Amino acid sequence: MENLSAKELKEKLLIDNKNAGLRLTDAEIESAVKYCGGYIDFLNCAKTERLAAQCSVEMLENHGFRPLDRNHRYKSGEKIYYLNRNKAVIAVVFGKRLLSDGINLVAAHIDSPRLDLKPRPLYEQGQIALFKTHYYGGIKKYQWSAMPLSLIGVIVKKDGTAIPVNIGENPCDPVFTVTDLLPHLANEQHKRSLKDGIKGEELNILIGLTPFRDDDESEKVKLNIIKILHEKYEINEHDFLSAELEAVPAYPAKDVGLDRSMVGGYGQDDRVCSYTALTAMLNTKTPEKTAVLLLADKEEVGSQGNTGLQAAYFRYFLADLAKPHGIEARDILSNSRCLSADVNVAFDPTFPDVLEKRNAAYLNYGVTLTKYTGRFGKLGSSDANAEYLAQIRALFDENNIIWQTGELGKVDEGGGGTVALHLANLDMDVADVGVPVLSMHSPFEITSKLDVYMAHKAFSAFFK
Ligand code: MN
Ligand code: MN
Repeated sequence: MENLSAKELKEKLLIDNKNAGLRLTDAEIESAVKYCGGYIDFLNCAKTERLAAQCSVEMLENHGFRPLDRNHRYKSGEKIYYLNRNKAVIAVVFGKRLLSDGINLVAAHIDSPRLDLKPRPLYEQGQIALFKTHYYGGIKKYQWSAMPLSLIGVIVKKDGTAIPVNIGENPCDPVFTVTDLLPHLANEQHKRSLKDGIKGEELNILIGLTPFRDDDESEKVKLNIIKILHEKYEINEHDFLSAELEAVPAYPAKDVGLDRSMVGGYGQDDRVCSYTALTAMLNTKTPEKTAVLLLADKEEVGSQGNTGLQAAYFRYFLADLAKPHGIEARDILSNSRCLSADVNVAFDPTFPDVLEKRNAAYLNYGVTLTKYTGRFGKLGSSDANAEYLAQIRALFDENNIIWQTGELGKVDEGGGGTVALHLANLDMDVADVGVPVLSMHSPFEITSKLDVYMAHKAFSAFFK
């Protein structure tokens, strides 16, 4: 050590993160750009949790994955999947080692913030028909007005018939919108706090103007809309109760920047980790340990409900795998490792003050490894163990993954959580790994193509 120059010492002892754009070869950058073409296609076909689950299952089936058979004793190299209520997916490639040696699990979520229709959404006011909504997840409500929206989901009739709805995604479809006030008359609105710029009960979606003719009833526009819906879907007003209709941004995901270095689009939290982990799963041949991918629903509302990760379905699924081997789910779980794959905040030069810049993640600096999330003294965080983080950074370094550390904002600035704690509660080792994002939870989130590709490489190495 004593003979080393300052430069040599620095190289040996200090962190020297470099932009992935300086570290990767031209061929690697080309691979990343090509990979993100597929990612953009996925974002455009998977704008709701149901569509994301459907797209994922199609991709799994095309790669030889078959539905779980609970009585089958699976051997290494076999590939299965399980679809929970059309909203959450588990996929498995069985490994060479015993199941009781544990699994390598990557868990991401496929739900994203949006506007859900209320159970009695349709009304008419001022001879205009509108839908009432209740927003889902953490949104800045003012961002959702004065932009085109698609309406996607399902209506289930009393006899169980499920009618898929998807209006706005096809270029010849009409779109919908939440109106905002003109600035000329916004004196009072401008005095509101930004949080209430558009209030929850003002997130009303414009759906039509045309009155039903030859009628003496009062709400002719509403009547005409329900008539159109009846002709198209054979539904009446009662059927909205047993429907899940989601308004999401109607525009497609696109390349962003003159250098086309970024992906812009809705729902990247957390379909970016879902897609990068899913494609890693599709390429996994026969791994050492059994590789498991979990695409969960309801993360944005606290992982509640029977498709969220606080529910029992994942434990039941592992119990089903374990039983033919004469073991129990807990024998698998306690030896398992998990990456909670979710996005983290990226440094934004326009809003630098909410991050502590030594510990913040930066666009183009690779996939982010996060020890803890939470808020106000790590509340609600699973806080990964040092021993496990040592394994993960060794894995990343061995596989030439460009990675960085991340933290969800300055101490006491705010914060958030992921599914990590629910998986840690099952006695697995868990760490948060994901892609840094700008404008998170907005209708147009931004990621770096090189970071997206590095996440894919990281999950691939973890499964292998
Ligand atoms: Mn997320
Ligand atoms: Mn989120």
